[in-house]
Amino acid sequence: MSRMSQKHVLPLGILLLGTVALLLVWQTSRWVYQGTLDGLIASGNDRMTLYTGTLRSALDHYAYLPYVLSTNQQVLDLLQGKQSASEVNIALEHLNMEAGCEALYIMNDLGTTLASSNWRDPLSFVGHNYGFRPYFSRSKAGERGRYFAIGATTGQPGFFMSHSVWQGDRIIGVAAVKVDLTDLQDEWREGGETVLVSDTNGVFFLSSYHNWRYRTLEPLTEAQRILIQATRQYGRQPLDLLPLEGVDLLADGQRIVSLEGTRYLMMSRSLYDLNWQIHYLLPLGPAQERARAVLIIGVVLSLLVLALGMYLRERRQKLISRRKARDAVALVEMNKRLQEEIDEHNRTDKALREAQAELVQSSKLAALGHMAAGIVHELNQPIAAIRTHAASGRLLLERQETDKLRSSLTAITRMTEHLGSITVQLKTFAHKSPTFRESIVLQECLEDALTMTAALINEAEVSLIKDLPDTPLVIHGNRGRVNQVLVNLIRNAVDAMRVQTVKKLHVSMIVDQQQVVLSIADSGSGVRDQDMEEIFTPFFTTKEVGEGLGLGLSISYRIITDLGGSIRVLNNEEGGATFMVIFPGGPVVGDGDGR
Ligand code: ADP
Repeated sequence: MSRMSQKHVLPLGILLLGTVALLLVWQTSRWVYQGTLDGLIASGNDRMTLYTGTLRSALDHYAYLPYVLSTNQQVLDLLQGKQSASEVNIALEHLNMEAGCEALYIMNDLGTTLASSNWRDPLSFVGHNYGFRPYFSRSKAGERGRYFAIGATTGQPGFFMSHSVWQGDRIIGVAAVKVDLTDLQDEWREGGETVLVSDTNGVFFLSSYHNWRYRTLEPLTEAQRILIQATRQYGRQPLDLLPLEGVDLLADGQRIVSLEGTRYLMMSRSLYDLNWQIHYLLPLGPAQERARAVLIIGVVLSLLVLALGMYLRERRQKLISRRKARDAVALVEMNKRLQEEIDEHNRTDKALREAQAELVQSSKLAALGHMAAGIVHELNQPIAAIRTHAASGRLLLERQETDKLRSSLTAITRMTEHLGSITVQLKTFAHKSPTFRESIVLQECLEDALTMTAALINEAEVSLIKDLPDTPLVIHGNRGRVNQVLVNLIRNAVDAMRVQTVKKLHVSMIVDQQQVVLSIADSGSGVRDQDMEEIFTPFFTTKEVGEGLGLGLSISYRIITDLGGSIRVLNNEEGGATFMVIFPGGPVVGDGDGR
């Protein structure tokens, strides 16, 4: 995922947290809802018990009256035609003034009302026949009548209770009581409660709400309608369905219903002896609101926490990117400085190289100059001498002085030989050493070299000390070249001792493992520390122009290393220098057969 898209997509952690928070909030709101509902059910049960009690007491209050009437002598006399109806009417009126029912009335065995407490009312029951009412039929059959209906005469609803009037074993009439339940319903309504009572057909005949009265719980079947019509139970009421929509069944007699957009907890309880059901409805609004409030608060809090989390994350990201930017700037700065340092270093390096090149060039030139001066000086002297001898030779020839001429020619020959030795030296330096090797007894080679330098040693008054083993030590190499090395070393030693008072030349030889070490030690000036490194480089010399070319040691070095040996110099503690030449080789058994 690119950085851009990463920035705009919520990170998985936050999404997960948000989901968990929402789930928790939802669950909490459900708990709150359930808790409130449980509370409502508990209080609903209490209220139902109370309302069932008030209903029962309202009915039971008058339950004894039909029986009392059925045993009344006047009533019996009336039904037997021994008593006039007007007297019974007055008696019933008086009795009801005490009892407080809607009406007390007596029907003959056909259901026609003979006397009634409301005989004075224009809508008096007297003369009306109620033989179609079920309560009459029941009492006619010797049972107690219990029945709720809208008055066929008055149009007023009421609860009818009846009792058969016996004469011996014959039912001669029915005594009935109509109880008005309007007050009870008013009480329910004033209490702000929704209480309904339904009959066997599911018709709500009692209701704290007027417009729910005579509505039905379920749609009525045709048979039910015909039956209700026949008994004129609910007059002309259309008995429409109360559109209670079942939402959830919680338990037997407890369910959630919805009516016109409002949800209710509906609790129902059966009144078995009456075949009725009492219903209690509690609006769920408060429970829903409480749950909703919890949900809203929870969601808002979750969103706030989420927003805070995102803000903190954003801030952290910003800080990190700011730090990164700072680091990047510092890195760039550091890189720049580093690059500058590298450039500076390169410049210095270049300048140094240039300076070094210049130095090399100038030292080369200086060395070349020195060498040229040396060569010129070395050659000039013999050439000038040759020229002088040649000129004097010509004069001597003219004068016929043959002896002198001879010695001049001899001098010329000696000079050319000297010249030859100089060029030989230079040649040695210029060409590769010959590959031809022979076995050389080093003692003999040293003796040769000492012989060649004997005049020099004597002239410089140097005392020579030899410390040589008797066993011939044999090395492999070119005799002439080795000789050249030794002569060169002896000369240098004598040169170094020229101004010294003690002049001692000590030559020695030892065998060390498979090597022969030849040492030439002098009591001269020694080699200066700063010259130690350069002493073997070509054209290095401390001698005056004409006294040395600075080639001797470098040539010697080359000759010895070509033989597989080495040459070293060290200063003696008591003064002077020692040159050690190390040859690969060793002693020869016998008298030197290896020669
Ligand atoms: P040259 O003798 O022509 O100067 P060499 O290469 O033989 O050239 O010697 C180089 C230099 O080494 C000499 O100029 C001298 O300074 C130094 N040197 C050689 N041998 C000795 C020695 N035995 N004692 C002190 N210095 C020496």
